Amino acid sequence: MSLDKYQSKRKFEKTPEPKGKADLPLKKGAEGKSQPIFVVQKHDASRLHFDFRLEINGVLKSWAVPKGVSEKFDEKRLAVMTEDHPLEYADFEGTIPQGNYGAGQVEIWDKGTYEMTEVTEKAFVFILHGKKLQGKYVLFNFKDKNWFLFKTKS
Ligand code: MN
Repeated sequence: MSLDKYQSKRKFEKTPEPKGKADLPLKKGAEGKSQPIFVVQKHDASRLHFDFRLEINGVLKSWAVPKGVSEKFDEKRLAVMTEDHPLEYADFEGTIPQGNYGAGQVEIWDKGTYEMTEVTEKAFVFILHGKKLQGKYVLFNFKDKNWFLFKTKS
C-alpha cells in the first residue's frame, strides 16, 4: 500500500477527508470477480481542476486533470499524476477547510466501474462505465508525472 504520501500531506483532525486503512481488502463480487471503480472529482481548489482516479491494487491511482476529461475522441488532456488516494476517497464530497492541503470544494463529477484492457510500461487502456464517461480511454505517460488522457476509437 502506498498511502504514506497521501497521509503525510493531511491533518485528519482538520480535514473531513478519509484517512484510509492500510490493508483494506479488495471488494469482490459474487463470483469472486471484482469490478474496479473509477471516479472523477471536481475540485475547486486554488485552481479549479478535476481529479481522475482509478482503483488499482487496492488504492486509487490519481491524476489531476486541469481541463477535465473530454468525451470527444482523441482530444488529449494533460493529466498530472498525484499521490495514491485511499479507496474510500471515491465517495468523498465536501469542503476541505482553508489552511489544509487542497483546500476547497470537492464534488463527484462522475463515478462508475471500468475494465482494464491493456497495461504497458507507459500506458493504461481501459473502458469506462460511468454516468457521463463511457467508452475506451487511454492514459499515456509521456514525461515524468505528465500523462495524456483521451478517448479512443481503436
Ligand atoms: Mn485535487
